[in-house]
Amino acid sequence: MNEQVRAWVRAARHIVVLTGAGMSAESGVPTFRDAQTGLWAQFDPQQLATEEAFRANPSRVWDWYAFRREMIIKVEPNAGHRALAAFARRHPGRLTLITQNVDGLHQRAGSPGVLALHGNIFEDKWLDTPKSCCNAHAAVAGSPPYCDRCGNMLRPNVVWFGEMLPVEILAAAEDAARACDLMLVVGTSGVVYPAAGLARTAAGKVVIINPEPTDLDDTADAVLPGKAAELLPQLLED
Ligand SMILES: [Zn+2]
Repeated sequence: MNEQVRAWVRAARHIVVLTGAGMSAESGVPTFRDAQTGLWAQFDPQQLATEEAFRANPSRVWDWYAFRREMIIKVEPNAGHRALAAFARRHPGRLTLITQNVDGLHQRAGSPGVLALHGNIFEDKWLDTPKSCCNAHAAVAGSPPYCDRCGNMLRPNVVWFGEMLPVEILAAAEDAARACDLMLVVGTSGVVYPAAGLARTAAGKVVIINPEPTDLDDTADAVLPGKAAELLPQLLED
């Protein structure tokens, strides 16, 4: 089956790769649960990763994200992340990478134009719509940093519970799915929106790469049980 999928990769003019938590887990990215250690053990992540929680106690939520950033920065992109970045460099414009992961590992591996559906934990954005006074580079250092003119606060650029996915990024992902010849769905169970929807609207063939069975296996053109770090380098080499 690998040879068949390799042939599809070589023939495809436009490939979409959709990655989920399994891709990060292979690099050892700590999950929400893993991050609940030490003083954080008393907090439920679902009660920290919300706008309501941030407004109620900005420094607590900011510090929790600072702690998670420290954990994630120690983790390295794996061979699967690197294979995707290398393919995109060799074949400009042929691969669109969509990820549900917020850890920035694809970006650190060198993948260009990553469509990060749930944001990037290493980026900040303003909590409230920025005014002309709000300059992220001039924000006053703090927990969280803030605008000294209006008090607007910086927050992590991730999609919190109860928030919409970023509209433009989701639209770009949907367009890419509808236009692709081949979609590789990597390290996601397929249950969580929008992975399932994107896979089902894919115009081309759909290949699932995951160590365990997924909800998308029934409708896929091929299922490759295994790890992204092992299979992607094989599939994407020229
Ligand atoms: Zn301001």
